[in-house]
Amino acid sequence: MSSPERSRAELPDGEGGDPACWMHRVCQECGRLADEDPPTRCPSCGAALEAL
Ligand SMILES: [Zn+2]
Repeated sequence: MSSPERSRAELPDGEGGDPACWMHRVCQECGRLADEDPPTRCPSCGAALEAL
């Protein structure tokens, strides 16, 4: 039962989820999403990923 006064951003789960949850896992070089968390290395291009 969603209230119209509640913002969608307040909901923990939604369609597609919250992008901020995996933003730190996205490779800055190729944009691929790392399979592990915290990410250490991009599985696609091999670039080192830093956990912010
Ligand atoms: Zn990459």
